[in-house]
Amino acid sequence: MSQLRYDPIQGRWVIIAADRSRRPRDLQVTASSSGGPLYCPFCPGHESRTPPEILALGRPAGGRRDGPGWRVRVFPNKYPALVVEGELGRHGVGIYDAMHGIGAHEVIVDTDQHVLGLAELPAAQVELLMQAAAERMRDLHRDRRLKYVQFFKNHGAIAGSTLTHPHSQIIATPVIPRLVIAELNQARTHYQRKERCLFCDVLQEELERGERIVCETGRFVAFAPWASRFPFEIMILPRRHGSDYGTVSAEDLADLGACLGEVARRLRAVLLDAPFNLLLHTAPNAEAFGSERGLWKTLLWDYHWHLELLPRLTQVAGFEAGTDFYINPVAPEEAARFLREAEVERP
Ligand SMILES: [Zn+2]
Ligand SMILES: [Zn+2]
Repeated sequence: MSQLRYDPIQGRWVIIAADRSRRPRDLQVTASSSGGPLYCPFCPGHESRTPPEILALGRPAGGRRDGPGWRVRVFPNKYPALVVEGELGRHGVGIYDAMHGIGAHEVIVDTDQHVLGLAELPAAQVELLMQAAAERMRDLHRDRRLKYVQFFKNHGAIAGSTLTHPHSQIIATPVIPRLVIAELNQARTHYQRKERCLFCDVLQEELERGERIVCETGRFVAFAPWASRFPFEIMILPRRHGSDYGTVSAEDLADLGACLGEVARRLRAVLLDAPFNLLLHTAPNAEAFGSERGLWKTLLWDYHWHLELLPRLTQVAGFEAGTDFYINPVAPEEAARFLREAEVERP
């Protein structure tokens, strides 16, 4: 089992997952050879090569569990950073703090098609993927040990992906990550000053200015953030205020499938197959608030879930690592204009 260690200097937890560095050779071979559907453990028909499924969407009635016919499939990561079974066992080690590596680490196979990525998927398929993420989030929130559920996607080797078949991941942690706490605090401070949601304000500003908008649907707006850290960074904000991604409606999901697919195709048109990370930012698990209770009383009103898409075109280097300061060589207004004007075909 891995261990969570608290860094008292930086005020953040680190997962020491020593087991994961010894990955079986077969996975590394698959990663470096990039494989084909024949060797791909995520392709339909190869279900026995993954741990048993937690969730499958789209399989016709009567279909066999852990058999083909699914359109999105979720199972525990074979090499988990955190595991569900066990006690948190928070304890001191001299002046330090540690706890057992309790949490959840799941893989979501985005599609039954062995294609390049999100840009190749029709809106209905992206919708199913995001539905699976919502269902898993709601389920994981029932576990009061799990304080934060992070849905993310690594696309491309530089962004951390080891398998080519489009897939996403969920890692649920027994602590609220430091970056999330920082964002929650920013949102709460804004709300206390103005009695308005920071993200609703940002959305209104972006819609009025228009120059950083990438694309819009009925329920979502994709734009290049004012202070983008990375070239072609994109935020996708729901127009309707809501703090918890788990509360998305069927209509939201259908529209999100269209919006996220469109963003992926525009990025593909401009940046080709550039590596990127897709991140969901949502409220922590309110059921699991312990010492945090009382800190975020206005969470429902002050926080607003959203997606971030971060292309990895530049390397995070010494200055960024040392200061959390970023140097972005592309103005967000320029990036948005390129993406807006890109010609895309919809699958
Ligand atoms: Zn595959
Ligand atoms: Zn809002």
